[in-house]
Amino acid sequence: MNNDQIWQATLGELEINLSRVNFVTWFKDTFLSSFEDGRAIICVPNAFVKKWLEEKYHKNIVNSLENITKHKLHEIIYKIELRHGSNNIGLNVRQIKNTEDASVSESKIQTPDTTVKAVTANRFGLNPKYVFDNFVVGRGNELAHAACRAVVNNLGKAYNPLFIYGGVGLGKTHLLQAIGNEVAKHTDKILYATSEKFTNNYIQAVQTGKAKDFKNIYRNVDLLLVDDVQFMGGKDGTQEEFFHTFNELQQGDKQIVMTSDRPPKSIPAIEKRLISRFESGMVADVGKPDMETKIAILERKSIEKGFPLDKDVLIYIANNVQNNIRELEGALNKVVVIHQLSNSVPTLKSVRNALSDYVSSLQAKSLTAKEIIEAVSRFYEVSLKEISGNSRRKELVGPRQVAIYLIREELSSSYPSIGQEIGGRDHTTAMHAYNKILREVKENDNEKLKQDLESIKQLYANPLY
Ligand code: ADP
Ligand code: MG
Repeated sequence: MNNDQIWQATLGELEINLSRVNFVTWFKDTFLSSFEDGRAIICVPNAFVKKWLEEKYHKNIVNSLENITKHKLHEIIYKIELRHGSNNIGLNVRQIKNTEDASVSESKIQTPDTTVKAVTANRFGLNPKYVFDNFVVGRGNELAHAACRAVVNNLGKAYNPLFIYGGVGLGKTHLLQAIGNEVAKHTDKILYATSEKFTNNYIQAVQTGKAKDFKNIYRNVDLLLVDDVQFMGGKDGTQEEFFHTFNELQQGDKQIVMTSDRPPKSIPAIEKRLISRFESGMVADVGKPDMETKIAILERKSIEKGFPLDKDVLIYIANNVQNNIRELEGALNKVVVIHQLSNSVPTLKSVRNALSDYVSSLQAKSLTAKEIIEAVSRFYEVSLKEISGNSRRKELVGPRQVAIYLIREELSSSYPSIGQEIGGRDHTTAMHAYNKILREVKENDNEKLKQDLESIKQLYANPLY
């Protein structure tokens, strides 16, 4: 394997254990420039990424590199260097096998023709990968899928708004963007935004005196897609603006589609009038896929990856990955990478081996406060004792507040019980800490803190990590 192939395989492995956002954020535009005598030089685009990889992902990178090359590493040097015209993230697991393909598509990027294509494919911020064609319909998502199809065929008239809700990793974003990609064939007036993007755009527009432009943009579309509207909870100004945007679009028979992780009524801190608007069209839920659907999804994705798997293997994976489709994909990626690298044919036994850690970690008992505190302590490199202790040192108060915040968010524990968990504190202390972090995240939009929270979640959500 050459350096690029090694690095792509490493990225493929790293990606499995990271959220897409985290992965893209930290590994975009990285490459392996040298790998010799147990010494690797990894090039990164800037100092920020360098620091982050050194501090947070170093161990994972070492493990994956050693795993893939079967060579022991003595040293990794992270070097700031840009390679022109490259984008490693586009080259994923799928392309490891077919390096010819990868190099072709890379060199093609330079021709004007494909540049234009790439731009149009990503129009409106939609991921071209999310289309109806590759969405597997089964029990759990058939109603939502049918509603989405109906919306496409009768824009603004069938169900308006369409509100799709359900747990993480069950295909809401996929469906939402599939509507966008389909409608994009006929009109340019489409907007896709996460509710966070809507919020940020709005705040920015107000601050720079451009609220009017904002209104013009958002109210002048045929189709508005808003992902994860639950995050509008507690943001009054944004809700007000969204309410008016919503009314104007709806009255003009312009289509609105939203997703959320819960039904309208259950979104915390959301205005009554918005709830009633959200419910005024069609509300469809997506649920967990049943066994047949899981097998169909795995079968399809394994074929897409050029790595078809036997039925018994598919059944094994489907049986052992319970929670959602994203995890199903994660397990499949892992199986594919491991067998491609060892150039071996997957058997039930080898797949069981490949997934042993993954599966047992997924099946592990549900999250506890203790696990959250442990993850926080690992992340900030402070001891469990220090988190629970009485010191008011800044380096400890921060992590303590973060732990409290995460326990409340993840487990909905009561303040008194959280206080108990964190060194027998008073419930008002827990409440204060929770609100403090909530404000930082929701009102002050503290990017750094949000990244921290995301990374800590990775720590307790992915025991492999
Ligand atoms: P959500 O927005 O509900 O958290 P996503 O839409 O991001 O979930 O889906 C997670 C992953 O699972 C995506 O890669 C998506 O393509 C895939 N996926 C979800 N449902 C299906 C399905 N029915 N058929 C094929 N792929 C799916
Ligand atoms: Mg989503």
